[in-house]
This record gives sequence, structure tokens and C-alpha cells, in this order.
Amino acid sequence: MEDRVIIITAPSGAGKTTLVKLLLEKNKNLAFSVSACTRGRRENEIEGKDYYFIDSATFQNKILEDAFIEYEEVYPGNYYGTLKTEIENLWVNNKIVVFDIDVQGAMRIKRKLKEKALSIFIKPPSKEILIKRLKDRKTETDEMIQRRIDKADKELDYVMRFDYCVVNDSLELAYAELEGIVHKFIDKHIV
Ligand code: 5GP
Repeated sequence: MEDRVIIITAPSGAGKTTLVKLLLEKNKNLAFSVSACTRGRRENEIEGKDYYFIDSATFQNKILEDAFIEYEEVYPGNYYGTLKTEIENLWVNNKIVVFDIDVQGAMRIKRKLKEKALSIFIKPPSKEILIKRLKDRKTETDEMIQRRIDKADKELDYVMRFDYCVVNDSLELAYAELEGIVHKFIDKHIV
């Protein structure tokens, strides 16, 4: 049974989701940890694949049941969390679990799992590019975009606490760097 995880974090709009998707497509021994969240589903998202979309009451009940390895109110009123059962199911199937979570969640999981966890911060090339990517995406209101920009400002202060930082300027180069880091982690633990 596997017991390792790879945590990938970035400010919203840094291009993390694309990089994570590529990583999962090309490495079949990795599997995505689907978080539960209380925000509404976006049009292009699939229940159980992108998130488990649950209402606030169900989320609060799961907190009381101690069902989460980690959870957080990432944006005011919007809770996100990783169910313990999600990770256990993937480990039983011999998968290395890949997390796409925010900075605080990443640090909590790293603290819990220590050397079993690889933590990687994806950095946008600049704040201007980050803002442009968020606006071009057209999935959030101006207010939501502003919230994400404010959060990104704070998150960038934590880069140093991660095992690695990858600057996502060119997708191709960033992916090559990310895959190199991941392969080193996977190979290091083979006995
Ligand atoms: P979005 O609403 O854009 O899908 O995600 C918002 C933020 O929540 C992203 O930074 C994402 O990484 C983070 N997130 C997703 N799932 C979890 C989780 O289970 N725990 C924590 N702490 N953050 C999460």
C-alpha cells in the first residue's frame, strides 16, 4: 500500500490546474484527491471528479464526525476539505495521492505527513499576469477576482516553506520542471 502524497499549491490563476492535469495524465501511478467543497459547481466541472459538491450543513456534520484530514474556509462562506476516506481509498489502490489545495491546507498536510509528502508551490511569473489570467478565465465576478488577488498576495509570502517552487511562465518548461521534481520523489522511495 502506498502512503505518500504530492501537494501542489498556487495562487488562483497561476496555472496550477493545467499542470496538475498534465501530471496525472502522464503518470498513472498518481491519482487526484477530490476535495469536498460548499461552493457552487462551475459549468465545466463534474461532481466527484473536480469536487464533491456538498451543502454547508453536510460539511459541518462531516467536521463533527472528524471525517476530514484537513479542511478550511478558503473564501468567506466557502469551505473546502479533504476526506480521510478519499486518501485511504487511493492508497489502498497503490496510488500516490496528488493534492490541489491552498497554502494553509498544504502546510497542514505537510506537517502531518512530513517526509511522506512532497510540497510544491507554483508561482505565477508576475502579479500582472496573474490578474490577467483570472480575468480571462471569465468564471468569477469582479468581487471574487479581487478576493483571489488579495489571497494571492498573502500566499506568495509562504513560498519559502515549500520543498520546491516552480515558476509557471512557459507551460512546457514549468511542466518539465514539475515532472522532474515528482519523478525524483517517486524514485527516491523505491526500495
Ligand atoms: P476553486 O474554488 O478555484 O476551485 O479553489 C479555491 C481554492 O481552494 C484553491 O486554492 C484550491 O487549491 C483550494 N482547495 C481545494 N480543495 C481544498 C481542500 O481540500 N483543502 C484546502 N485547504 N484547500 C482546498
